[in-house]
Amino acid sequence: MDFYSVLFQNCGDAVVVADHRHQITFANSKAKQLFAEDYDVLMTETAFSKSHLFEMERKTETQLATYPLRNVLAGDQFCDREFLLQSSRSSTDIWLSITGFPVETDACLRGVLIIRDITEQKVALLQNLRRELHDEFGGVTRAAFMTRLEKAIQQSQRDPSHLTAILCIDIVRLRSVNNSLGYAAGDQLLGEFASRLINFAKSEDNVSRLRGDEFTILLEGINNQSEVLKAAKRIQAEISEPFCILNTEIQVEASIGIAFANDDCQTSEVLLRRASIAMYEAKKSLRERHCIFENSMQTDNHGTLQWEMSLRKAVANHEFFLEYQPIFQIKTRQIIGLESLVRWNHPTQGRVSPGQFIPLAERTGLIVPLGWWVLEESCRQMKTWQDEIPNTESFFVSVNMSSRQFSQEDVVQKIQDVLNQVGLSAKSLKIEITEGVLIEHSSSIIQKLEAIRDMGITLSIDDFGTGYSSLSYLHRFPVDTLKIDRSFIENADADYEKLEILQSVVRLAWNLGLEVVAEGIETEKHYARIRALRCESGQGFLFSKPLAANAMGALMQQQSMARQ
Ligand code: C2E
Ligand code: CA
Ligand code: CA
Repeated sequence: MDFYSVLFQNCGDAVVVADHRHQITFANSKAKQLFAEDYDVLMTETAFSKSHLFEMERKTETQLATYPLRNVLAGDQFCDREFLLQSSRSSTDIWLSITGFPVETDACLRGVLIIRDITEQKVALLQNLRRELHDEFGGVTRAAFMTRLEKAIQQSQRDPSHLTAILCIDIVRLRSVNNSLGYAAGDQLLGEFASRLINFAKSEDNVSRLRGDEFTILLEGINNQSEVLKAAKRIQAEISEPFCILNTEIQVEASIGIAFANDDCQTSEVLLRRASIAMYEAKKSLRERHCIFENSMQTDNHGTLQWEMSLRKAVANHEFFLEYQPIFQIKTRQIIGLESLVRWNHPTQGRVSPGQFIPLAERTGLIVPLGWWVLEESCRQMKTWQDEIPNTESFFVSVNMSSRQFSQEDVVQKIQDVLNQVGLSAKSLKIEITEGVLIEHSSSIIQKLEAIRDMGITLSIDDFGTGYSSLSYLHRFPVDTLKIDRSFIENADADYEKLEILQSVVRLAWNLGLEVVAEGIETEKHYARIRALRCESGQGFLFSKPLAANAMGALMQQQSMARQ
C-alpha cells in the first residue's frame, strides 16, 4: 500500500475513488463500514438494490436518484452536499455530507468522493428543533415572533401601503400519523413541517408554533391581498410534497387561515385569533383549504359554546331527521340502495349543514348518541319500505358511522341489537367508515369489523383517496366496498393525473375483490366516465339529490311499478 493509501485508510471521513470504467479502485475503512461492498448507491441503482441514497435538496423520491460518483466521473464538482443513506444493514437513516471532484493524473481520470457521516449533528438538530417547537408558550421562538409581530403591526399602521398578514397553518391528518406510526413519527413530521415553513419564511423569527399542530407565519411589507393568497398557495404546494418519516412516505395537507392587520385590529393577540378563526373556516372547505378572515366569522368561545349547547338539546328535542340519497347500479341506472344522511333543523337558525355540525358533534362526543339514533332510524325506515314497496327486499341502506362509535367496546352488540329490534336483515345494512376509523383503532378494529361482517353486514370505506393509506394497506382490513371520493370524479375530466389514479384504483380494487362505488356523479360526462371505468354503482346529483323520506319512498315505488 502506498503512502497516501495508508494516510487515507485511517481517516475519519470515508474516501472512495473510482476509475473511468466506474470501477472502485480505493475505499478506506470508514467507507467499507458505511457501504459494506455496496457502492452501487453512489454510481447507479438497480431494481435489486437494497440500499438507497437520497439527495436532501430535492424532495420527492422519484427526483432523488442522483449518483454522486457517476456525476463526478462526468466532470461534476461539488462541496458538502447532503444526502440520506437508507442502508440495508441499518434500521436507522444515515446522513452524509459529500464532497466530490474528478482528478486527472497520468492521462487517467478518477472520481473522488469524501464522505462525512453527519448523522449525529443532524439528529441533534432535529431534536433541538423539536424541543423548541414543544416550548409552546413563552419560549424563545415565540417571544421573538411576538416582538416581530408587534413591530410589523406598528409599521403598517404608520404606512397603510405596507400590509402585514398573519397566516395560521394547521397540519391536516397529524393525528392519524401519531396513531398509526407513533408519537416519535408525529414529532418528526412536526419538525420537518416546521423546517419547510422556516425555509419558506426565510427566517425563524417569522415562524412560530401557536399550539399543537398549528403554526403561524408573519408576512410583512405586502402590497395587496392577492400576494398573500399566492404565498398561501405556494406554502400548500410545498407542504403537499411527501415527507419521508420512518421510511414511510407521508402526504399531508395544510389548512391556512389569513388575517390582515388593519385599523380595527391593532394587537397581535386579536390578529392571531382572527387568523385562527379563518383557519377553522378553511378546514371546512374541502377545495381551497385557505381562507381570509372576515368579520362575519367573528365567533368567540362563547359562540361555539352556544352551538354546543343547542346541539346537546337537539339530540333530546328530536331536531334531527334523515334524508336518503339513492345509490344506482351504473349499468342499468336502477336504484339498488340508499345512503342515509343526517340533517339538523335548528329552531332559530333553520337548516344547519352536516359539514358544520358533524365536526362539532365529533369534538364533543355527541356524535355517539346521534350516530346510534341515525343507525336505528335508517334501519327502521328501510324495514318499513321493504315491507311496503314490492321488489325492495334486495335494497340496502348505507349508514355513516363515526370513529367515536367504534371506541365503544360493545359496538358490535349494539349494531346487532338495532337489527334485532327493528327486524331488518343484516344483508340490507351497509356501514360506511372512513380510513380514520381503521387508523385510529388499528389494533382493536379488525376483530370488531370481522364480527360485523360475520353478521352479514357489508363494510364500506368512505371518501377513499382523501387519506394517505394505500389500497393494499386498507385491504388488510375486512372491507367489501370502496367509495371513491367525489374530488376524483369531479376533476377527472380536466385532471389527467386524477383520471389515471381513478383508473388504477378501480383496477386494483377489482383485483382485490372489492366493489367500487363512485360518489358525486353530477353530469352525464361524469357518468360516461364512471361507466367506462366499470364501477358497479354510484350516487350523485345527476341521479338524485338526497331526498326526504317520503320523496325517496315515492321514487322507489315508481321504479317498482315500472318493473311490474
Ligand atoms: P359523505 O358521507 O361523503 O356524504 C356524501 C355527501 O356528498 C353528502 O353531503 C351529499 O349530499 C353530497 N353529495 C351527494 N351527491 C353529490 C354530488 O353529486 N355533488 C356534490 N357536490 N355533493 C354530493 P352532506 O349530506 O352535506 O354530508 C356531508 C358529510 O357529513 C357526509 O359526507 C358525512 O361525512 C357526514 N355525515 C352525514 N350524515 C352523517 C351521519 O349520519 N353520521 C356521520 N357520522 N356522518 C354523517
Ligand atoms: Ca358517506
Ligand atoms: Ca363520501
